[in-house]
Amino acid sequence: MTGGPDLVVAGAGGGLAGALRAAELGLSVLVVEASEHFRRGNNTSMSTAMFPGAGSRWQKAAGVEDSPDRFAADIAAKTGGRADARLARTLAEVSGPLVEWLADSAGLPLSLVTDFNYPGHSVHRCHSVPGRHGSSVIDHLARRVREHPGIDLLVPAELVDVATGPGGPGAAAGVRGAVVRYPDGTQEEIPAGAVLLATNGFGADRALVERHLPEIAGALYQGGERSRGDALRIGGGLGAATGYLDAYQGHGAVAAGAGTLVGWATIIHGGIMVDLGGRRFGDETRGYSEYAAELAARPGSTGWIVLDETIVEQCRPFQDFRDTVESGVLVRADDAEGLAEATGLPAGALARELEASGAAARGERPDEHGRTHWERPLAAPYAAVRVVPALFHTQGGLLVDGDAAVVDSGDRPIPGLYAAGGAAAGISGHGAGGYLPGNGLLPAFGLAYLAAGAIARRTTTREN
Ligand SMILES: Cc1cc2nc3c(=O)[nH]c(=O)nc-3n(C[C@H](O)[C@H](O)[C@H](O)COP(=O)(O)OP(=O)(O)OC[C@H]3O[C@@H](n4cnc5c(N)ncnc54)[C@H](O)[C@@H]3O)c2cc1C
Repeated sequence: MTGGPDLVVAGAGGGLAGALRAAELGLSVLVVEASEHFRRGNNTSMSTAMFPGAGSRWQKAAGVEDSPDRFAADIAAKTGGRADARLARTLAEVSGPLVEWLADSAGLPLSLVTDFNYPGHSVHRCHSVPGRHGSSVIDHLARRVREHPGIDLLVPAELVDVATGPGGPGAAAGVRGAVVRYPDGTQEEIPAGAVLLATNGFGADRALVERHLPEIAGALYQGGERSRGDALRIGGGLGAATGYLDAYQGHGAVAAGAGTLVGWATIIHGGIMVDLGGRRFGDETRGYSEYAAELAARPGSTGWIVLDETIVEQCRPFQDFRDTVESGVLVRADDAEGLAEATGLPAGALARELEASGAAARGERPDEHGRTHWERPLAAPYAAVRVVPALFHTQGGLLVDGDAAVVDSGDRPIPGLYAAGGAAAGISGHGAGGYLPGNGLLPAFGLAYLAAGAIARRTTTREN
């Protein structure tokens, strides 16, 4: 890469998809990644690997009728119309081609998840890999990147700034290069025509979380430790506009003691959540993200997910759930009384909730919290796991256009600067409630994919 690569990708999470796409389109690419442990430490590697894809061939084969319109409508409904409509439309449109590209070009063994549906998706739309875990996604993409002759991977190397101005590979003023720092403290400017910020959000920066997301600041942070707001700082320094900084993905089902993800499939298959008083406190099927702050506000900031042996079996496709079971934090009991004893929950309250939720699930009377999605009533023998709320990642960041180009406050692209994933503002509106499952990986992979296409078009035009 004499003279520098066409594109520097900062961050080897969803950024890897951008690198592969750009190389496929003939660009030379350098990926700089700050953490040696990114394959187990970044958010993509921790994820449940659910990729929404509207209109995919797997949906068609399964007879699922879906379209970008329908997906965009689901996003609008989940966010109460408060998502960035332009970006939501762009990502809904790219979601189907993206999952097919991830399978066909990047070689990810994706298939449609049809055994349950996440809250807010009106049809089966999420695609995942065997084991449903992001570690295998990252392992696979990192291997592809290392093997690709058009991509160099520099680890550990931290992007500390983006140099702009005329004189670089780009003819017009704009990105001139990436300023990278190595562990020994030395820095260098690597000339490049474009930089993709794929460094995730600011979940690991306590002060930023306290400022923008006070409702979840006291909860466990369960995301990548390198999500330190670097894109906000670097992009901000270049005049980028920011938005939706109060948006985040929370989760209400991290196993206390084990730190593993219990997962919301437990709820969708019929489980309930109670607080330490043994009482339910809402319609659990609204979504796991909003349940984080709701659980955080309960006494002791903790609760229990109550499930049964059928649900335990139904959740086994999830590696995270299997890890939870194997860690020994699941308690089991033959009846409600035994469950109260095993969990320490008040027996009367717990028995009443089991009776009332059973009646609602059987359609005998309306649920007092308005829950209408009941796969089946819980049945003895029961199981339960104590859960704590967590912040998984932030959804606000740099504003981007339909090419993933970072824009300024006048909505004008900053030439050569792109952002994807947690570095960019997402499509979840404000707060936690707008987060639709997949709203993490879709902007991470979708915007990286779109940025690669746009940079390839720009580079070709410049060279001709
Ligand atoms: C348990 C869990 C389950 C989840 N499940 C899902 C799911 O099923 N579906 C979904 O859509 N979302 C899910 N999410 C959210 C999803 O993981 C994230 O939204 C997504 O992975 C973000 O991707 P990213 O590329 O922006 O960040 P990351 O994957 O975190 O990658 C960013 C990379 O940038 C590196 N980096 C940071 N700063 C610098 C710098 N200055 N220079 C160089 N490198 C830097 C980091 O080390 C990191 O490797 C889940 C999250 C968690 C925690």
